[in-house]
Amino acid sequence: MSDLKVQNLRRTYGPVVALADMTFDVAEGEFFCLLGPSSSGKTTTLRAIAGLEELDKGQVHFAGQDVTRAPVQGRGMSMIFQTFALYPHLSVEANLAHPLRRAGVSASEARKRVNEVAELLRVTHTLKRKPSTLSGGEQQRVAIGRAIVQRPKLLLLDEPLTNLDAKLRHDMRAEFKRLHRELGMTMILATPDQLEALTMGERVGVMRDGKVVAIGKPRDLYQTPGDTYVAQMIGSPPINFLHAAGSGDNTVDLPFLGLPVAAPGVSPGQPVTLGLRPHDIGLAGGGPARAAKFTARIHLTEPLGDVTVIDVAVKDAAMKMVLREEVAAKYNVGDEIEIGFDPGDLHIFDQSTGARLGVGAMQ
Ligand code: ADP
Ligand code: MG
Repeated sequence: MSDLKVQNLRRTYGPVVALADMTFDVAEGEFFCLLGPSSSGKTTTLRAIAGLEELDKGQVHFAGQDVTRAPVQGRGMSMIFQTFALYPHLSVEANLAHPLRRAGVSASEARKRVNEVAELLRVTHTLKRKPSTLSGGEQQRVAIGRAIVQRPKLLLLDEPLTNLDAKLRHDMRAEFKRLHRELGMTMILATPDQLEALTMGERVGVMRDGKVVAIGKPRDLYQTPGDTYVAQMIGSPPINFLHAAGSGDNTVDLPFLGLPVAAPGVSPGQPVTLGLRPHDIGLAGGGPARAAKFTARIHLTEPLGDVTVIDVAVKDAAMKMVLREEVAAKYNVGDEIEIGFDPGDLHIFDQSTGARLGVGAMQ
């Protein structure tokens, strides 16, 4: 049974449609991520679940109850906003105890729970200090502590890592997974960052213009994206798109490739978009047999430490590929390079609708 059911939510602000038709379910104890670009409706969705939005349409069911019109208090949910604010004049301890005091929890019980939460979030050493003396990561953890100290059944996190630096973001991703494991509570995290969604979410809902357009496990969304939108939202560096047309029944010709590729479902002349992930392109000689080979010119290299992203140009097509750093180090900008891919890694989409048609195969 799903714990949270979000059905057909619609929210408009005058002419602006913030939520067009939001629908998704989250299971009890699940870590669910909403992935969408800015303005796609993530914050409005979380606010609607929490009871902070007046909806034009739709229902929210939680723990078997219709809570669409239930008051914010008493829903058993807690939300952490993108710009979390701690009370600057209160100690960390008093910040953590604040929600409990407001709820009428006794002082001794409050102390016990604050200590537990502080331990869980590893901020015990800061309890007597003011928030301004804490690092960004510690402040973030106190904000999380304040949200979970009342033991909500559902935790809503709105871009909780966006305002942290890169190293801290990395640590906090692991921290959220640990928290989820240890607390066992249902969590929904909204983010524009595909890496965050893929590494933390057990399932990911991909958003576009106030709707969820795809839901799945990270691996499934990556391996079999249902359309070009989902394909380009997931994966880093982003998938390469090449335009081609059916050259015969179930066949496409890539202008730079000396051979046709089998493309099931493609009719002659049909415009298609071919998707090829940077990680699926490699040196023609090394690694697994790469049936489709071609020569490309290196246009730009971007060393990332362990791997290097290489931009190559072939005829009028530009593509990104990823090589291990020690392999990439042998090449320079301007060099010609023999590369290839397995046609089975070629994602085929209809160009006009963007819908997935299938994968390629050797002709
Ligand atoms: P996200 O969190 O994905 O960036 P939001 O849910 O904040 O998206 O916003 C969705 C759309 O609704 C955006 O176009 C935004 O400008 C609009 N919107 C959100 N809140 C308001 C508001 N209070 N008044 C007018 N427009 C709003
Ligand atoms: Mg937002």
